[in-house]
Amino acid sequence: MNAHPSTPYALPDAPRDFSLLIDGSLIPVSDREPIDRTSPAHRRLVSRYPRATAADTDSAVAAAKTAFEKTDWATMPGAARARLILKVAELIREHKAELAQIEALEGGKPVSAIEGEIDVSVDLWEYAATLARHAYGDTYDTLGKDTMGLVLRQPIGVVAMITPWNFPLLILSQKLPFALALGCTAVVKPSELTSGTALLLGELLQKAGMPAGVVNILAGSGSTIGMQLCSHTDVAVVSFTGSTEVGKTISRAAADTLKRVSLELGGKAAHIVFADADLEAAADKVAFGILHNAGQCCVSGTRLLVQRSVAEQFSQAVAAQIKSVRVGDPLDPTVKVGPVISKQQYETIGSYIAIGKEENATLMLGGTQSLQHGGVDGYFVEPTIFADVSPDMRIAQEEIFGPVLAIIPFDTVDEALEIANSTIYGLASGVWTSNLDTAFKCARGLRSGTVEVNTYIAGAPELPLVGHRQSGVGHEKGRFAVEEFTELKTVQLQFGPLTDRWVPKGN
Ligand code: NAD
Repeated sequence: MNAHPSTPYALPDAPRDFSLLIDGSLIPVSDREPIDRTSPAHRRLVSRYPRATAADTDSAVAAAKTAFEKTDWATMPGAARARLILKVAELIREHKAELAQIEALEGGKPVSAIEGEIDVSVDLWEYAATLARHAYGDTYDTLGKDTMGLVLRQPIGVVAMITPWNFPLLILSQKLPFALALGCTAVVKPSELTSGTALLLGELLQKAGMPAGVVNILAGSGSTIGMQLCSHTDVAVVSFTGSTEVGKTISRAAADTLKRVSLELGGKAAHIVFADADLEAAADKVAFGILHNAGQCCVSGTRLLVQRSVAEQFSQAVAAQIKSVRVGDPLDPTVKVGPVISKQQYETIGSYIAIGKEENATLMLGGTQSLQHGGVDGYFVEPTIFADVSPDMRIAQEEIFGPVLAIIPFDTVDEALEIANSTIYGLASGVWTSNLDTAFKCARGLRSGTVEVNTYIAGAPELPLVGHRQSGVGHEKGRFAVEEFTELKTVQLQFGPLTDRWVPKGN
């Protein structure tokens, strides 16, 4: 054990074994072929997940279908489901350090960041519980004398949840408690790189008393069990978060069974800074926006659009802020930036740094990569800034998913909006200004599902996550989650004598 003094975090000597959850039973790794996860920091085998088979996937869907159709899960009072969801929230809170350690080891993200995400996850479960008591339809008492129309809002059925590696528990918490609150059942497939906390959640659900089959959790690859879930006849919704490319594949696979697909996809967020902003606060959040999770967030503020009159001064302030950030061992609570997730991602980011140089952007900071940092092995990418970037360069158009910031100067609000809206994505944007007119003009004109003004990556369970254009289809969390996991049913009631005849009497 390589403990970090006075913290619960330590590099374990042996990997942790996880279990699948299918129909209320935990299936240990000893019963299946193991999926080995080596940590991107320390380069150590840290987790072993049982690889779900095609038969496991069928069993999980069948269990979820039975729980939905043949038990009282979907019809029990919302208050009862809410109590169960709150119990799970409490268990997540109690297991915070354990969950944070697993994610830090598997994903390389610093524990300081993960602890905050687990708090947000608890908040999401607690908020979702309130929806269990507030899902309702509509009534029409205006259709005629002896008739009435009811629009029922009913749970849609089995939801397959496919999640990415970058926010394992948090993203699952944007889906699962909401689906459960509304009476759906679920089959969860986390990323094969960071499955640990989803699988541990399975154990917590068991502890909370979740009925068998309501939630099933698998581990395995997207191209096998992920695809199987997307084309499965008994899955009603695929709720997917991941890359735009895989989102398109999923859409195509789901089309044959005409299932509902909800897609939260990639982004290329613009952080727009006007000369009249609080530049000190903006520099801090611009640094956070690009370095949080080493730039591997869908909402990473990867393009910095800065008004030309302050461009030089502000770029220097951001560079100074970025230089002061501690990079290193994700288990060290003082570290803010760890390694990136994998060798493949390390190489992809390296190729974009090379592209930026070839495109003649000015390398203002960083640009190097190393397999060791401060005595820790790992895929470390030095925080990198390119200045003098033009909006059409590839580093300004494509999702790099690493700590690489592209600075683009602009003069007017209209020009800033045009540049910000010039990619295929439309996920998130940040605006920094003290001028209300500018703030509202940007909020209205930015073609992204989220616009944050004078803050960045704040969020709240009440606020939906929405991807515009190629950043997504549908939305999740907030009270609008009821739309993701329910469907409407019209009931028309005739309660007086029916005098209207299709075939007139005596014909
Ligand atoms: P990814 O698309 O490679 O994988 C996401 C999930 O899909 C994984 O569980 C994977 O196993 C599965 N998968 C892969 N191929 C599949 C297939 N053919 N069929 C079914 N499932 C399949 O994404 P990633 O690398 O894990 O995550 C990074 C991406 O996710 C980035 O593009 C990022 O922007 C995006 N993301 C978006 C949001 C959002 O809310 N919009 C949040 C986080 C991450």
